[in-house]
Amino acid sequence: MILDPLRDELASLEAEGLKRRRRIIDSPCTPECVVDGKTVVAFCSNDYLGLANAPELIAAAREAAVHWGVGSGASHLVSGHLRPHETAEQALAAYVGFPAVLTFSTGYMANLAVTPALAGRGDAIFADKLNHASLIDAAQLSRAEHVRYPHNDVAALAALLEKSPAKQKLILTDAVFSMDGDLAPLPELVALAERHDAWLVVDDAHGFGVLGEHGRGTLAHFGIKASSRLVLMGTLGKAAGVAGAFVAADPVVIDWLVNKARSYIFTTAASPVIAATLSESVNLLVAGDARRTHLFQRIAQLRDGLAGTRWQLCDSPTAIQPIIVGDNHEALALAEALFERGLWVPAIRPPTVPKGTARLRVTLSAAHSEAQVAQLVDALKILQ
Ligand SMILES: *Cc1c(COP(=O)(O)O)cnc(C)c1O
Repeated sequence: MILDPLRDELASLEAEGLKRRRRIIDSPCTPECVVDGKTVVAFCSNDYLGLANAPELIAAAREAAVHWGVGSGASHLVSGHLRPHETAEQALAAYVGFPAVLTFSTGYMANLAVTPALAGRGDAIFADKLNHASLIDAAQLSRAEHVRYPHNDVAALAALLEKSPAKQKLILTDAVFSMDGDLAPLPELVALAERHDAWLVVDDAHGFGVLGEHGRGTLAHFGIKASSRLVLMGTLGKAAGVAGAFVAADPVVIDWLVNKARSYIFTTAASPVIAATLSESVNLLVAGDARRTHLFQRIAQLRDGLAGTRWQLCDSPTAIQPIIVGDNHEALALAEALFERGLWVPAIRPPTVPKGTARLRVTLSAAHSEAQVAQLVDALKILQ
């Protein structure tokens, strides 16, 4: 039977505590949500500023649907590049302080565009070991040599760059690591990119809208300015609360992507509703200091609340606050016990994280109340 090997593999995933399943959510993306018929407080989403249900964005989406319809009808290079796409790109460029921006339907596709467009056979990509899956796939798709350096190890990276004979080098990193919440040493990476005449491609999915002055992102957090070798990618379905992603770079790089990036060229442009909503989202991000202050208060509340307990948090200054458990089954059991108490925190297991580091990935949002975070802290204290 053609299905037998699949059935066997699925059964062994189940036995190892690695089988995935989806829960159905019967409410919008808010901390208080209805899942599998039960009302719980969720600490799962990447809606860091609570914008996914912002009334301003709902209004912008309604208006855009009436004015522009819901479908773009074609790829950007044919007839799908509507005025709302162009306006959103300009708003994003101004916000992140780069001369040019290109938008994509998802962050996964943006990553598949950038690295293969800048590096190919005979070139080498130097990638942090903990990079997001989409960056790993992008490096593989490029056909360049894929060199992985130990997490945030600048000295190891410097040595690898030094001895590489590659024609063109490209350093590839998450700015905020998605399963650990820690930051890449970006100033050191900028210096190494300059010394080795390499590209530096930074995925700021989790820093954009959250870190730096007015949430301009992790580059702003470190005071790093746009430059010709620096390519910034950010996603728009997390702090921005909508969907999609952008790449910000020198206009020559953007022009190159428009001409060469297959995941940009061979796909239908995002809905104009999404594009128009994104422009309004940028306005909310710019004016979002109160939301960010509330978020950082909740981060401090969780960290202070769990200090001195059995639960060890990572060294994370961001909204991603993982609790490392280790064993897959134990992580799942803890997630289940919290769920029974009305708290939804996802258990993250290999291959998403390295073997033996299964964890609860707590994500906080400006939409969480002080009482909701206190409820999580109390439950974790009881379960330790
Ligand atoms: C979420 C994420 C992506 C993918 O973005 P989508 O818009 O969800 O496809 C890429 N990189 C990182 C680091 C992410 O966390």
